[in-house]
Amino acid sequence: MFSFAPLVETVSELEGKPVNKNVAQFYNKVNLLVYICKGGAAYAYHMDKACEGLTYCTRDIIAVTKSDAKAKFKRKPCKRCSK
Ligand SMILES: [Zn+2]
Repeated sequence: MFSFAPLVETVSELEGKPVNKNVAQFYNKVNLLVYICKGGAAYAYHMDKACEGLTYCTRDIIAVTKSDAKAKFKRKPCKRCSK
């Protein structure tokens, strides 16, 4: 159907924007996409968009690749939903 590389390009295009649910589910499956809260006090990235840690987010929740969450946004894995 679709190959791996074009999808990686797609996810960087989606950065900072609301993500199509099916796309998000696919990236969750391959462990590439994580969720971060844009609020200043946020420090973690989340594997689960429904994570309790994100319910306290007062700003936008955005989807980013896991590598960006670590390198660009300096986030740590959430203790609740990341392994
Ligand atoms: Zn979490």
